[in-house]
Amino acid sequence: MQKKRLAILGSTGSIGTQTLEVVRKHPEAFEVEVLTAQSSVKKLIEQAIEFKPNVVVIGNEKYYREVADQLEPYHIKVYAGSEAICQVTEMETIDLVVVALVGFAGLKPTLKAIEAGKPIAIANKETFVVAGEIVTNLAREKAVNIYPVDSEHSAIFQCLAGEFHNPIELIYLTASGGPFRGKDKTFLSTVTKEQALKHPNWSMGCKVTIDSASMMNKGLEVIEAKWLFGLKPEQIKVVIHPESIIHSLVQFEDGSMKAQMGLPDMRLPIQYALTYPNRFRSDLPRFNFADYTKLTFEEPDLETFRSLTLAYEALRIGGNMPCILNAANEIVVHSFLKDRIRFTEIPDIIEKMMQKISFIPNPTYDDYVNTDIETRRLTQELAG
Ligand code: MG
Repeated sequence: MQKKRLAILGSTGSIGTQTLEVVRKHPEAFEVEVLTAQSSVKKLIEQAIEFKPNVVVIGNEKYYREVADQLEPYHIKVYAGSEAICQVTEMETIDLVVVALVGFAGLKPTLKAIEAGKPIAIANKETFVVAGEIVTNLAREKAVNIYPVDSEHSAIFQCLAGEFHNPIELIYLTASGGPFRGKDKTFLSTVTKEQALKHPNWSMGCKVTIDSASMMNKGLEVIEAKWLFGLKPEQIKVVIHPESIIHSLVQFEDGSMKAQMGLPDMRLPIQYALTYPNRFRSDLPRFNFADYTKLTFEEPDLETFRSLTLAYEALRIGGNMPCILNAANEIVVHSFLKDRIRFTEIPDIIEKMMQKISFIPNPTYDDYVNTDIETRRLTQELAG
């Protein structure tokens, strides 16, 4: 078997490290060609020494010397800067680009990789939220496959195996409800970042954990699903499923529903994105019915968790509105983590930005970039 050569963008984050865990278990199948990180120098160097990529990129240029010096004995090429992250995706020797970057930063390298005809395994939902239309159009034009890593979208993708010619009636994205499920607004106005960072089922990075607590994560996933599976907003439902065993469902036109299940562990959807259409053996813990005598479901509380409502609204409006939603959210999440705003101000400020920033119905790539910059600047002023 020919080894699949991977470029892992964002290798030191939660998804990046778990991707490398999958690679470590299957040295016969994968080879690491490129690793990139923004500023986690120590971790990047450790990873490079273990996985011996050809090229390493450190996003923050001030760390270039340190990384280059330490990797010199290993004959690993080192580059720096965000432009270099984009350029390495075009390398001849890459078979699959894993986009494990967080936020708007994922967009440009993803477009570059698609432009170069590289298949993509994508964990970066913000890329679809910001510019889903541009990304999917370019992928179609270049006949590039995009494999979802997000667990819900991987679930839908797995349910669709063998069904791609059958129209989807609806999909249900499941949501755990996060740490504040069942709480009211008064409670939410007092929560601390420590409480918000304690997710009941999933172990994830900071940004997505706060997004899960506010339910913005599900909102972003609704928009991501629209573009990945070509659906209308009304075909995408959210259902709260606190046990996180069913990772999402597809309902077909005959009324039949397919669900994908398993213990919540990101290594599974990551591995499927790397091995599709095959399934490799894994030694992850298996589901045991005795541990879950019932699985429960409830409607999301759209009054309390307004971020989800705002995401649906942005999706329906279209244009650059999801881009505004995303940029404002990235800033307010950061401000909340710095104790500068209350948890309940997260949707309040996002909503203000959605009203304030100029709406563009048919944005170009540059419009998205400008919308992102402008929204960040104004949100910063409010949430500083
Ligand atoms: Mg998810």
